[in-house]
Amino acid sequence: MAEYIANLIIIGSGPAGYTAGIYAARAGLEPVMISGFDVGGQLTMTASVENFPGYTRAVTGTELMSRMHEQALNFGVKIINDKVTEVDLSTRPFVLSTENGNCCKTKSLIISTGASAKWLNIETEKQYIGRGISTCATCDGFFYKNQPVAIVGGGNSAAQEALYLTNFASKVYLIHRRDLLRADSILQQRLFTNTKIEIVWNSVVEEFIGGQNISGIKIKNVLTDERKSIDVAGVFLAIGHKPNTELFKKYIALDEDGYIITKPKSTATNVEGVFAAGDVQDKIYRQAVVAVGTGAMAAIEAQRYLSSKET
Ligand code: NDP
Repeated sequence: MAEYIANLIIIGSGPAGYTAGIYAARAGLEPVMISGFDVGGQLTMTASVENFPGYTRAVTGTELMSRMHEQALNFGVKIINDKVTEVDLSTRPFVLSTENGNCCKTKSLIISTGASAKWLNIETEKQYIGRGISTCATCDGFFYKNQPVAIVGGGNSAAQEALYLTNFASKVYLIHRRDLLRADSILQQRLFTNTKIEIVWNSVVEEFIGGQNISGIKIKNVLTDERKSIDVAGVFLAIGHKPNTELFKKYIALDEDGYIITKPKSTATNVEGVFAAGDVQDKIYRQAVVAVGTGAMAAIEAQRYLSSKET
């Protein structure tokens, strides 16, 4: 059984994790990243990224992440393809166990395990991910210029994304399973007065239809059992995210939705020496560029923390 003792371990290999790795390696911390088995994180499910500064042409999420991977390797980040299954943050150094039986010790830790979008888990959903189904309107809305789209959900994300989508789409159906929205009232007012938006109440998506790409959805009214099809070129799911924080909840303070609480203008958590970056601590923006920014912050803060312990 291998044993790793590091200055800094980064858990997770999304934009936040790689950025933290690059910054920490350049600061001479010899960081170790435990990538998880879904290397690259959520962005690898995005077909085309057009809003990442510096890329004048669209790049696939997979390519963007593989470039970050290569850049991290170039600076000497030690990347271990393994998954952390247990942490003990009550001792110093911190102790991590992994699925492949590695036990790692580290003086500091950056948690960048991200959040996972919730899916409807209905048949035909998987085959259309990246082919009409998206969980990020900010990322993919642009591709539906003058085409009808649907958004599923009734919270702030669904409301904001529906409004955002009206900048491109010819029509936006908001499919909600109840007759009451959870979204803030100011957003509800905007939804109700936007002529491009049609709210389909008390309805759930039963099936995605199409060929290679989506061409429509079958929905059911849960009160009347009435079923109908709607032609749409894209479907955006905004039914919530689940931060990947299960492993840490024994030690790290989480908010009511399970996101890690960080100190204001900082990535520091309630445990000294443990920092959190990216979507695992961000339920508002959920953008790769924001994750990148917090990844850099976390590495800088980890470096300062380690220096303060040396003196
Ligand atoms: P929410 O959990 O608030 O809303 C999820 C919505 O999806 C709910 O309307 C829910 O329905 C619906 N839903 C959940 N599961 C299913 C399902 N299986 N089938 C159909 N519908 C489903 O998630 P959000 O992402 O909207 O928001 C998360 C947090 O982030 C909230 O605290 C929110 O306020 C915050 N946020 C804040 C923003 C801001 O600018 N301030 C912007 C975006 C998010 P139901 O209502 O029936 O439960």
